[in-house]
Amino acid sequence: MGRSARERFRVEPGSPAGLAGRDPSGTPGVKSRKRAERATPKLQERLAGLQERLYAERSRSLLVVLQGMDTSGKDGAIKHAFASLSPSGTRVTSFKAPTEVERRHHFLWRIRKALPESGQVGIFNRSHYEDVVVVRVKRLAPQAVWSTRFGEINAFEESLAKSGTTLVKVFLHISPEEQRERLLARLDDPTKRWKFNPADLEDRARWARYRTAYEEALTRCSTDRAPWYVVPADRKWYRNWAISGLLVETLEEMAPNYPTPELDLAALRTRLEGPVAEG
Ligand code: AMP
Ligand code: MG
Repeated sequence: MGRSARERFRVEPGSPAGLAGRDPSGTPGVKSRKRAERATPKLQERLAGLQERLYAERSRSLLVVLQGMDTSGKDGAIKHAFASLSPSGTRVTSFKAPTEVERRHHFLWRIRKALPESGQVGIFNRSHYEDVVVVRVKRLAPQAVWSTRFGEINAFEESLAKSGTTLVKVFLHISPEEQRERLLARLDDPTKRWKFNPADLEDRARWARYRTAYEEALTRCSTDRAPWYVVPADRKWYRNWAISGLLVETLEEMAPNYPTPELDLAALRTRLEGPVAEG
């Protein structure tokens, strides 16, 4: 069996995230690509069953936060690793640069509005972590502002956990070499060219600063109630396997159950067997 996905990828609360020591092209825990590709659909089937119970139970929710550099596979993970989730029980939100209205509010304002309802799985494609990463790297706010946010984020996530939202925060860890390949592929393939954003090259040029900013965010905001997981993401098949495993383990621990309403089955059956009242 080996270690669980959660143990394998977790940033230990209170310890450095250690991004430099984690290999983006690593494939820990799998014997071969073939085996992983056979295991992933089975994990996703379990995921679908667990999600249905969570939805039926309607008392708790799961929030998945996805962060990573451009092309790290946030959209790909949503498309593939979450493919088995039921659309009616899932709420996906992508966070872009804040609008003028959003900028007039506290940074968590738009985040709170996007939280999943009881019973739902919420997926954040980028999140409040942009407010301590891109904001820092591009100097969109002074250090005095962004540096107080780590504590605010921890308090916010703690309150979410207390009110029944389980958090799974996933950092998709890719190498600059793999990003180059993916950006080149976008240029080469006319069906992918629409995804190419020249501004991504400016972010790419700031790789080291992003690395530093992510290192601190993951280190300071990995907590027992809301841990960060670093998933090697250079290989898409591995990423899908890893994320599916993380979600299955988390939901299995939540152990959602179908509610057991008290129904007088005999009486209800009798009524159903009778004629439909007309007019
Ligand atoms: P993409 O995910 O590639 O569609 O791009 C979304 C862009 O919005 C990224 O460049 C993010 O860094 C940026 N973004 C998201 N949240 C924030 C934020 N709070 N402040 C500034 N930029 C942000
Ligand atoms: Mg982008």
